Amino acid sequence: MRIAVLTSGGDAPGMNAAVRAVVRRSLVKGFSVFGVWNGYQGMVDGEIRPLGWHDVGGIINKGGTFLGTARSEDFKRYEGRREAVKHLLEHGINALVVIGGDGSLTGAYVLANEWADHVRELGGDGDSVLHVVGLPGSIDNDLYGTDMSIGADTALNHIVRAMDDLSSTAASHQRTFVVETMGRHCGYLALMAGLAGGASWVLIPEEELDMRWHNKMIEAIAKAREAGRPHQMVVVAEGARHADGLPIQSKEVCDLISKRLNINTRLTVLGHVQRGGAPTAFDRILATRLGVAAVDFLAENPEARHCHMVGLRENRIVFTHLEEVVQKSKAVVEELEKGNYQKALELRGTSFRN
Ligand code: ATP
Repeated sequence: MRIAVLTSGGDAPGMNAAVRAVVRRSLVKGFSVFGVWNGYQGMVDGEIRPLGWHDVGGIINKGGTFLGTARSEDFKRYEGRREAVKHLLEHGINALVVIGGDGSLTGAYVLANEWADHVRELGGDGDSVLHVVGLPGSIDNDLYGTDMSIGADTALNHIVRAMDDLSSTAASHQRTFVVETMGRHCGYLALMAGLAGGASWVLIPEEELDMRWHNKMIEAIAKAREAGRPHQMVVVAEGARHADGLPIQSKEVCDLISKRLNINTRLTVLGHVQRGGAPTAFDRILATRLGVAAVDFLAENPEARHCHMVGLRENRIVFTHLEEVVQKSKAVVEELEKGNYQKALELRGTSFRN
């Protein structure tokens, strides 16, 4: 087998550890392994080079992805994918490991389905198959088919550390802090940071808010102040929405608390620091387990046509067909947009249970 590995979409800490695991496990299994630089754009442009054992040394503790990542409009077009197939064929590649979010896994699914057509039209064997295994790489933890995606734990730790740091200044000045986290369609980071950081209130996209949510939040903060805690934390996921579907701005939450309670309130938007830095031990181990499992999956069933994502559910490695991953990840967003919160949570799977 000749395996190509790439990272795509937004970078996530632990992607390097995943690439390292895929490369080294492939070599152990006797496969040839290639890196594709800069995501699908690199595949379209032919930025594909062999990778050896030492090429992935010293990267397990590095954030980002040494292969680079990109969003590629070219790859979204049939002709762009044709170019990509041409370059993969030049290297005799017949298996692809993609580490990325739902967009990247959608791209992998599309490519796997079209592969034989492209090969035939390029004059090759129309029965040939491209085996595809996806790894969930996204700090948002918004993918169906896994309890945790690579990068989410590191991002969560950044947020909690920031909340801890803020709480000492908050206590000194008796301030309330509103902290905005990433999570366009998934409240995992905000909710878990709220638990770990001791927040008074958390706003996430999955919660159905009624028109009086402001009052409830204000009441909760007032009660906590009365109980003797003068500084409070409120966490807002960037994708939190009002009952009418309009986005909740973290600035408006900050102004509201300040006005209604007449207290000193400050906003901290954490932004891209959530993506940065060394991956946590959890992310390194998750990435390594998933990377090894992806290659073993390819090795153990060489005759089967693979088109799966490898994930972790209840601490067990599981494989879910990419069609299901892509459809259900999209369906969650659609249900949230329609205001069907319960349905969205049911689809989300186990990451939010309990
Ligand atoms: P993140 O969670 O950080 O947004 P992502 O993997 O979802 O990561 P996207 O920008 O949605 O990021 O997708 C990454 C790339 O995958 C796109 O730039 C594009 O090249 C490819 N891709 C996405 N959707 C499709 C599609 N329907 N067909 C072909 N390629 C796609």
